[in-house]
Amino acid sequence: MKRLKSGGGWPAIKYALALANKHGWRRLWAAARSKNACKTCALGMGGQLGGMRNELGRWPEICKKSLQAMAADMQASLSPQFFERYGFAELRGFTPRRLESAGRITQPVYAGPEDSHYHPITWEEALQRIADRLKVVSPNECFFYVSGRSSNEAAFLLQLFARLFGTNHVNSCSYYCHQASGVGLSGSIGSGTATVMLEDVEHADLFMLIGGNPASNHPRLMRTLMNIRRRGGNVIVINPVRETGLVKFRVPSDVRSLLFGTKIASLYVQPHIGGDIALLTGVAKAVLERGAVDAEFIRQATDGWEEYREHLTATDWQTIEQGSGVERATIERIADIYVAAKSAVFGWTMGITHHEHGVQNVQTIVNLALLRGMVGRRHAGLLPIRGHSNVQGIGSMGVTPVLKEAILQRLQEQYGVCLPTTPGLDTMGCVQAAGRGEMRFGWCLGGNLYGSNPDSALAERALNNLDLLVYLNTTLNTGHAWGRARETIVLPVLARDEEPQKTTQESMFSYVRLSDGGPPRHRGPRHEVSIIAHVARAVLGDQGPVDWHSMEQHQTIRHFIARIIPGYEKIGQIDRTREEFQIAGRTLHSLRFPTPSGRAQFKTHPIPPLPSSDGQLRLMTVRSEGQFNTVVYEEEDIYRGQDRRDVILMNRTDIDRLGLTADQRVTVRSTVGEMQNILVREYEIRAGNVLMYFPEANRLVPSLTDPASKTPAFKSVLVQVLAKAPLT
Ligand code: SF4
Repeated sequence: MKRLKSGGGWPAIKYALALANKHGWRRLWAAARSKNACKTCALGMGGQLGGMRNELGRWPEICKKSLQAMAADMQASLSPQFFERYGFAELRGFTPRRLESAGRITQPVYAGPEDSHYHPITWEEALQRIADRLKVVSPNECFFYVSGRSSNEAAFLLQLFARLFGTNHVNSCSYYCHQASGVGLSGSIGSGTATVMLEDVEHADLFMLIGGNPASNHPRLMRTLMNIRRRGGNVIVINPVRETGLVKFRVPSDVRSLLFGTKIASLYVQPHIGGDIALLTGVAKAVLERGAVDAEFIRQATDGWEEYREHLTATDWQTIEQGSGVERATIERIADIYVAAKSAVFGWTMGITHHEHGVQNVQTIVNLALLRGMVGRRHAGLLPIRGHSNVQGIGSMGVTPVLKEAILQRLQEQYGVCLPTTPGLDTMGCVQAAGRGEMRFGWCLGGNLYGSNPDSALAERALNNLDLLVYLNTTLNTGHAWGRARETIVLPVLARDEEPQKTTQESMFSYVRLSDGGPPRHRGPRHEVSIIAHVARAVLGDQGPVDWHSMEQHQTIRHFIARIIPGYEKIGQIDRTREEFQIAGRTLHSLRFPTPSGRAQFKTHPIPPLPSSDGQLRLMTVRSEGQFNTVVYEEEDIYRGQDRRDVILMNRTDIDRLGLTADQRVTVRSTVGEMQNILVREYEIRAGNVLMYFPEANRLVPSLTDPASKTPAFKSVLVQVLAKAPLT
C-alpha cells in the first residue's frame, strides 16, 4: 500500500464524502452540526457554540475521527440472528474492526457459565440479575470502571453509587493513558491538567510535541500547529517514528494548506524509545550552558533549582547521547530554537506516559518549561494531549480510587454519610485482584477494559474469574468476546447525541461543554444515567441519603456536581444560562502555583538506562490512523502505508541485521506472550526500536506499571523477532 506523503488533505475529504454517501448526507450533516461535544478526542469541538466549532468559536472544525465516531453510531441494529449465528468461538475470531462495524447493540444480551452464545434478555431481567448479585456480594469484591466517553453526569452518579454501596474500587481508562500526566503535573505544579487554553497555544511561537501523533489522533490540532508555522514560529517533534502527518499536513479547511501542504516539523528528532529523560535533560543542560535560564522566574516562583542545576552540570554529554540515542549537535539545535522562543507550549501524549518512568518523563518536561519561565503566563505552558473526549471530566467527577480531600469531605457533608475508607484499587490493581480471584463483580461503563489491558492472557483470565461482569456499550468489541465472566450482561446504551437529556463534557483545556443530546436512532438502548439510578435504587433502596429517582434527572445531578466538585460551581446554572465555562483554577496565567509552597517544583530525575538486552528490540504499541483508542474503524493505516494490522514496523538496519526480509512472516515474543505470523515491514523508525498496533499487540505487553501512576509501559516492551515462524 502506497504511503501518503502528507496527512489530512483530499483523502480525508474523500473519506468524509464516502461516509455521507453511505449514511446519508442529511443525517451526517445534522449530526455534525448538532450541539453536542465531539465524541472522539478531548481537543474539544461542538457543544453550545454549535457543531464543528472549536473553543475559539472557529468554524468549520471537524475531522475524519469525529465523523467515524458519528458514523459508527448511525449503524443499523445488530440483528437478533447475529447472536444466534455467532457464538464466542466465532466472535473471538473477529477483528476489532469487524466487531465494531457489526452494528449497534439494541437489546440487552446475557451469557451464563454454560452458554456458547449470548442470548437476548429483557431489561427487567437484566437489571434484576445485576441488583440481585450486588445484594449478595461484598462491596470490596466489586469494581466500577468508566471509559472517557461517558458524560460527567453518568460518571458522577456511578462513583456516588459505588461509594455508597461501599467500595472505592472506582477507576477509569485514564489509568491506561494519561494518569502519569496527572500525577506528574500535580507533583510539579500542584494541578494535574493543562495549564493552557487553546487560545494560548494559538499564540505560542514554539510548540514542542513529544511522544505523540496528533495528525492521527487529534487532527484539528494540526491547524493550530500550521498557524504557529505561518506566524514564523517553530514546531519541534520528538518521536522515535517519523510520522507522515507531523512532517507535512494538508488542513482540509484551509485552501492554501489543502493545495500546497503545510510543513509541520521545523525539527524532527527521533530518540530511542525510553530516551526522553536523557534527551530533555540534554536540552536543559544546553540551555543552562547558554546562560539562557530565566533566573528571576526561578528565584520568584520555583523550588528545587539548586539540586536540578547541579544534576544538569554533573550529567555528562556522553551519558545524554547514549541514554537518548541523539547526538549532541541535534540536542544543541533544539536548545537554540527553544532559547529563541518567546512563548513555548509543551505538548505530549502516550509516548511520554506509557513508560515505567512515565511520571518522571512528565516532570522532566515541566523542568524544561520552568527553566525559561514558560509556565504561569499567557501563551506558554504545559499541555497533556488527552485521548477520550471526556477522560478529564470523569476524573474531575471523582472516578478515582482515592477521592480528592475536598470532594470526599463535601460528599460526606452533602449526604451525611461516612464513605468507605478501604483504599481503592486502580484499573490494573482491579484486574490483578480479579486474576487472583479476589473480585467477583465488575461494571464497565463504556470502553473495552479487556482490549485496552496489557497482558491479554492475564486480562482474559482475570475477567473470566468474575461471577458477573456488566458492560454498557453502543457497539461490540473484543471484550465482549474474550473478557467474559461466569455470567456476562451487555446493556445497550444511547450515544451522546441520542441522550434524552443534556450532558456535559470537559476538554483537555478544562473547558466544560453542554451537549444537547438528540433523538434515539434505535428503540432499545437506554441512557447511562437511568441504568445506574435504577440499579442503585434497587440495591440501596430509597430510604438512604440519595433520592435515586430524582437522580435520573441530569439537571439534579448537575446541582450536586456544582456543590461537590471544585471548579464546577457554574454547572449549577448551565441549564438556565447555557453558558459553557472554563473550570476555575485550572489555567495557570500567574505565578501562584497550587502547591503547598505556592511555588512550582523542579523534580530531579536520573537518566534511566535504555531497556535493552542482546538480540531484543524495544517495542512501542501505537494507534493507527484508522482507529481511536481500542475502536478500529479501518484496517488500513494510510499515514504509515499499511494495508493490515498484523505487521511489525522495523528499521531497515534491524531487518538486515536479523537476516529478515520485508513481508517475511515472523514470531514476536516477549516475557508474557507471543504473536505468530506477523509480517515484517520496513519503516522510518529509529533502529533498535519496533512498532506494532494496539490493542492487538497488548498480548506482548507485561502488566508492569509505573509505580507512581499505575500506568502500564505500553511503549517500552523488549521483544524478540524470530524468523522461524510456522508456514501459514
Ligand atoms: S480533533 Fe478531536 S475534538 Fe476535534 S473534531 Fe477531531 S476528534 Fe473531534
